[in-house]
Amino acid sequence: MPKPWDDFKVNGLNSHTSRSGKLKLLEQVINLLQTDQLARHEAYTLARDIRDQIYGPAVFFRGLIEISNFCVRDCYYCGIRNSKSGVNRYRLTREQIMSCCQTGFDVGYRTVVLQGGEDPCFTIDDLVAIVSEIRQRWPDMAITLSLGEMSSACYQRLYDAGADRYLLRHETANKQHYSSLHPSDQIADTRMDCLRELKRIGFQTGAGMMIGSPGQTKVHLAEDLLFLAEFQPQMVGIGPFMPASGTPFSAEPAGSLDNTLIMLALTRILVPAVLLPATTALGSLDPAGRKLGLLAGANVIMPNLSPPDHRADYLLYDGKVSAADDVVSNLEQMVFIVEDAGMFISSTRGDAAVI
Ligand code: SAH
Repeated sequence: MPKPWDDFKVNGLNSHTSRSGKLKLLEQVINLLQTDQLARHEAYTLARDIRDQIYGPAVFFRGLIEISNFCVRDCYYCGIRNSKSGVNRYRLTREQIMSCCQTGFDVGYRTVVLQGGEDPCFTIDDLVAIVSEIRQRWPDMAITLSLGEMSSACYQRLYDAGADRYLLRHETANKQHYSSLHPSDQIADTRMDCLRELKRIGFQTGAGMMIGSPGQTKVHLAEDLLFLAEFQPQMVGIGPFMPASGTPFSAEPAGSLDNTLIMLALTRILVPAVLLPATTALGSLDPAGRKLGLLAGANVIMPNLSPPDHRADYLLYDGKVSAADDVVSNLEQMVFIVEDAGMFISSTRGDAAVI
């Protein structure tokens, strides 16, 4: 009996011309991988082979600097949402951000990621000044931003100041599902427009989604994969949904390890040159999560570079790993994971390959 996976392995989505045909195939493949362990392992092997052909068994490290946990948004899932009380809110100074960059550079990272809530106290002028200073002081370092939705003009200014990459997860490609995860002033189309603008401007652009977010169905997962296959982002962030206390979804179950690994592997197969992190959320869900993520086709790890005294305040979800670790012990754990997965740490910037 031929299985949908056999055709998918050879032809990807190409053998199906209509959108509904593609979605149906993706759903069948997800179903098969969920139920058939052998097919699942074949998928992981194929994903690794594709990755290794393009990048070799190299893992790229990105030092993550969580610059602010103030946020004007109120995403139902997020542990730093605006209306959550009891969060010890902080904002790093320019000097603190530079000191994190220096530490990251000294331990060998060649990408820094500035991530934060949407904090209007960081004006676009402030952000442009910060990006320009990093660009000037560490010319060899790639600068990634993950600061939410902005106007096209602001994105352009950040790009012109020297930012190379921008992460903005689409969260879910299904509009109804998007509106069940966000308040009504957050619009799925706006998020997608931002992603298109980022790519048009020239950023290496990152989309992505949580696996197992409340209300997510297999059809939604298929829609996410189809979106990724069509948009071809340079980066895709995929991690399990993890409940965060004090949010509307605090009592919802976490996403599953297997589903996250399946989605990582299928993303690698559909977007071959993608830079794909084995995320902190995956490591928080399961102690072996990040190693298994690498074995399912991931090739990026994002060690935490935030000042240790603020780590515990940037909790997007409960049970986040490494919240208390210093930079060096965090790095040592990551090195262990990479070697355990039979890979090596690249000392390059790790830009997206053009194939
Ligand atoms: N403000 C930025 C950065 C958001 S935090 C932005 O809007 O893009 C980065 C990512 O963490 C989010 O895009 C979301 O997918 C993920 N995240 C937030 N809460 C989470 C939770 N409870 N479980 C798992 N991932 C979560």
